Formats: sequence, C-alpha cells, structure tokens
Amino acid sequence: MWLGYLGDYSGIFYAAAIGLMIFSIIIQARLNSLVKKYSDVPVASGKDANTCVREMLQANEVTGVTIDYVAGSMTDNYNPKKDTINLSDTTYGKNSITAVAVAAHECGHACQAHSNMITYKIRQLIAPVASITSRFSVWIAIIGVVIMSSAKSYEMSDLGYNISTIGIILYSIVVIFYLVTLPIERNASRRGLKAMKEFGWVSDDQYIAAKKVLWAAGDTYAIALASSALTLFRLLLMRNSRKR
Ligand SMILES: [Zn+2]
Repeated sequence: MWLGYLGDYSGIFYAAAIGLMIFSIIIQARLNSLVKKYSDVPVASGKDANTCVREMLQANEVTGVTIDYVAGSMTDNYNPKKDTINLSDTTYGKNSITAVAVAAHECGHACQAHSNMITYKIRQLIAPVASITSRFSVWIAIIGVVIMSSAKSYEMSDLGYNISTIGIILYSIVVIFYLVTLPIERNASRRGLKAMKEFGWVSDDQYIAAKKVLWAAGDTYAIALASSALTLFRLLLMRNSRKR
C-alpha cells in the first residue's frame, strides 16, 4: 500500500512497531494473570474495598467523594466531574488483594483531584482536547499526504504539506496527554500502596503482590504512550518522504 511507504526510516518504524506489539501482548497477558491470581486471595485484614476507600479518604482528609458501583470487570475509575469512585464487579464490596489494590489506586486519583497536584490539573485540561483531536488528527495528516502525493504543482504539494503538519500538531496533543497520564497513574498507585501498608490492610507478602498488580496495570499506560509516539513518528515519516 502506498500509504505504507515511509522513506529511509521504514525499517526503524516497522521494527519498533513489531517490538511494541510483542511487548504489549506480554504486558497485557501478565496483567490478566496477576489480576486473576490475586482475585481469589482475601487480604489479611479481611476488609473489603469500600471500607478501605473510606478509611483512605478519611486519613487524607478528603470529603465529598462518593463510592458507586459500575458494571463490568476492571472498569473501575474515578470520575472527577461527579467526584465519584466507581468500583466494578470484581472490586465493589470484595476483599481480594486485587480488589483492595485497584480501589486504593482509584482512591489515589480522588486524593490527587482534591490536592493541588499541578500535573493532575494539567491532565484534566488536556483530556477533553485530546479526546477530540484523537478522532480526526490522523485523518487530517493522511489527507495532507494524499494531496502531496497527487499534487501536479508545487503550490498543491505545499498545501498538502501544511495540511499534514496541522494534523501532526493536533495529534501531538494526544501524545502529550499520554505523557502526562503515565506519571499520574504511577502516583495514584504509589498513594494506594502507601495506604495499604500504613493501615495494615495487607500482609508483607500481599503488599508485594498488590504492587505487582498495580505496576503491571501502569505498564499498559506506558504502552499507550509508546504507541501514540510511534504513530506520531509514522505520520512524520509519511509526510517527509513525499516532500519535494
Ligand atoms: Zn488510574
């Protein structure tokens, strides 16, 4: 396919893409197996996820946050607009290591939102913009490349180049979003793990298990960042290989 033509750096791109694909399969499989493994093991304290969240919120002097149920498995999230921690089938009212770790992580996000964490605020500002540009920026860049490829004049080629550049700039917002998200996710896990240890919800061995689960979950954000950066690289190669 002619859109696949990426100029001199084709080899680097395809090698990176294949490497990333293999990595992401390994990381996802590892996460699934860890989640499953520790979903059947109750925490030493016997406390369920909801109780742990309430305890963590209280200790951090965070008020006004509600805990709600959300359908599905591993669909847990913190909704900053509603100030609600949504816990899924495998978490809500459950006392497994996975349930408590996931709930503590989401509670970490609630604590971030209620603190003056500047990167969290930046992420909240970028999120709606990135969600819009992620839908069409790649297409703008590709349309620009198509115009460049079929251009009969230098003016037309320049127009295509500029359109493509606009698409690339808009897509950069998506990459920046993932770049900001990764440390925020790690931070939420660190907050959750700190609470797990401090409040004695888990034994020492269980703490290590919880850490493995949360870190593996965080790795999926690293993959998302790497693949968005790779897409950006691809768009740049597509545009530059047709420059004349
Ligand atoms: Zn998170």
